[in-house]
Amino acid sequence: MINEWDFATLAIRAGHERTEEGEHSEAIFPTSSFVFKSAAEAAARFANEVPGNIYSRMTNPTVRYFQERLAALEGGESCVATSSGMAAILAVMLGVLKAGDHVVCSRSVFGTTTVLLQNYMTRFNVSVTFVNLTNLEAWEQAIQPNTRLLFAETPANPLTEIVDIRALADIAHRHNALLVIDNCFCTPALQRPLELGADIVVHAATKYLDGQGRALGGAVVGDKERVGKDVFGVLRSGGVAMSPFNAWIFLKGLETLAIRMKAHGENAQALAEWLTTQNKVAKVYYPGLSTHPQHELAKRQQSGFGGIVSFVVQGGREAAWKVIDATEFCSITANLGDTKTTITHPATTTHGRLTPEQRELSGIEEGLIRVSVGLESIRDIQNDLARGLG
Ligand SMILES: *Cc1c(COP(=O)(O)O)cnc(C)c1O
Repeated sequence: MINEWDFATLAIRAGHERTEEGEHSEAIFPTSSFVFKSAAEAAARFANEVPGNIYSRMTNPTVRYFQERLAALEGGESCVATSSGMAAILAVMLGVLKAGDHVVCSRSVFGTTTVLLQNYMTRFNVSVTFVNLTNLEAWEQAIQPNTRLLFAETPANPLTEIVDIRALADIAHRHNALLVIDNCFCTPALQRPLELGADIVVHAATKYLDGQGRALGGAVVGDKERVGKDVFGVLRSGGVAMSPFNAWIFLKGLETLAIRMKAHGENAQALAEWLTTQNKVAKVYYPGLSTHPQHELAKRQQSGFGGIVSFVVQGGREAAWKVIDATEFCSITANLGDTKTTITHPATTTHGRLTPEQRELSGIEEGLIRVSVGLESIRDIQNDLARGLG
């Protein structure tokens, strides 16, 4: 039955096992441990001879509902939910890497992912090479005999560059490495990396999966062996578990994911097109514009273009800050993937830790503004941005 369901049905129905109370909405199980009928049952569960709950660091019914629903949406065998998006990325690193391994990572990834690899994983003798996301030759050239993992985010933050997931998976597999995709910007509603050959998908559930900026969470999706065993093992011993309260929020978020992503995309497309007509706007980055360098790839690989639009205003930092400060309701915050439109100046916030040279290499200009287009009326969003562009 479940194998035949469409995305919208899975997003609402997958994963929930009703208890004998007959609850219609998924129950929250706020319990740290679970009770056994006998000492023998306890022993059998601990020995992994029979399935069942032991302790909420490992399994919790509400968290399991979320894991099974997201696994169904991504088309993966296993899902491990974590306390944040970074915890998901850390769990993958600890689960599949060992000392002496090498990682090739896109230069255009979430800033903290760069810090995790560069400042922390290197302490455990895991080396890393950063490459330009869209340059497949650079990926291939960066591979060493000990390369175990390729890591990319597509579309990337904040310039929405896109990499061909299938081509990157081929490169990884030719060299016996795994491809990990951070699917934060598209979500499975718009892009399913596992179907395109990626081995593991990671999520910051904090963003679009929740969709209303309420809770931190993350997830890893993939096969039974690497995710179900290796990454789950890190959760069990490392303790980066998701709370059942948060799992419930994300379950509710998944139910409206498809229609929200569609609405975010419609607003973002309209905003991007409007921005291209503004005199003070020098550049607009959005995969749905035919001028976007990977527009054709985006059409092939994604079923929508997402909700993030970035643009450069003439006049550098001063002009960009003016646009941001002139808004009346757009939220000046670094978060994204919310019903509320958020506006960010990457050069002095999310990418402020980079050196000016690194920023230049990554295309993070002083005049760049990133908008996570929310679900307010597009007319009002445009008017709010027009104030500082006039
Ligand atoms: C926010 C984000 C993360 C990290 O998620 P947290 O829940 O904040 O830890 C990872 N990747 C991307 C693309 C993100 O936007």
